Amino acid sequence: SQPVTAPDAGIVLAAPRGFCAGVDRAIDIVERALQKFGRPIYVRHEIVHNTHVVNDLKNRGAIFIEDLAEVPPGATLVFSAHGVSKAVQEEAAQRGFQVFDATCPLVTKVHVEVAKLAKEGYEFIMIGHKGHPEVEGTMGQLDSGIHLVEDVNDVAHVQPAQTDRLAVVTQTTLSVDDAAAITAAVKARFPNIREPKQQDICYATQNRQDAVKVLSQQADVVIVVGSPTSSNSNRLAELARRLGVPAHMVDNADELQAEWFAGATTVGVTAGASAPEVLVNDVVARIKAYGAVSVRTMDGVQETLKFPLPKGLKLDNQ
Ligand code: SF4
Repeated sequence: SQPVTAPDAGIVLAAPRGFCAGVDRAIDIVERALQKFGRPIYVRHEIVHNTHVVNDLKNRGAIFIEDLAEVPPGATLVFSAHGVSKAVQEEAAQRGFQVFDATCPLVTKVHVEVAKLAKEGYEFIMIGHKGHPEVEGTMGQLDSGIHLVEDVNDVAHVQPAQTDRLAVVTQTTLSVDDAAAITAAVKARFPNIREPKQQDICYATQNRQDAVKVLSQQADVVIVVGSPTSSNSNRLAELARRLGVPAHMVDNADELQAEWFAGATTVGVTAGASAPEVLVNDVVARIKAYGAVSVRTMDGVQETLKFPLPKGLKLDNQ
């Protein structure tokens, strides 16, 4: 058949892309719980926001629930990588589940900071997306005193009870550029606000966005492998579009549409932090079928971070 792309079209893979250390660990926790305790293992919320990962774990005996009332007494329960509120933690303890916490340590870091500063009398401005489970978990570290702002406009309307002790925290998977603009607005309104020593946006979010900036300079179209619920994946597609490159987020290769590649010379491909590499391979194969003849990976930072597993999930042979 006739190629859809330009003749000699090439695919450029972003680096880094795909799984981060927190996602790796979260999936590992569910897999090891299944091996060690057998099915079913209950998981509160999608362990990570990826359809393929969730369906794969479902097939192997994981049951995903939102409400702890759905979990039978004595069951083993895993909290998702996004973290949970204090109320959810307490309910799980009260119901007597065996709990393994797959909250990413970089989200836990934010929780710890919030708890520590709250004891010193701080209130918080949180920059994040309303309704995202990470935001619910972080805001739910306190009964009150965390005020959510989603954009610069919200900053004008937020009403903390006092302004002497204010600190800013953010969701880990925001647009780096949007978060900087919102933080600037927050600082303009509350000049004494305390900022985290190290930004709350995580290394994986930062690195994947940096890579897409480079990728967008060379690509005619960018494909982001990721699920619609994935915050960091959505940010990657949005960033490419802001840089003037058409970008499409797909859950898998079947969602690709031939017309996206019409006449393209260079196709950029990246993947959100929750998207497995096997899906990237399928996408690359499909784009080759549309006419791309070469594949190369751009230069990018090497990620070596790895998080330890919780106690009680080491296998016998380790
Ligand atoms: Fe942790 Fe960042 Fe990965 Fe979220 S995207 S799981 S915060 S490393």
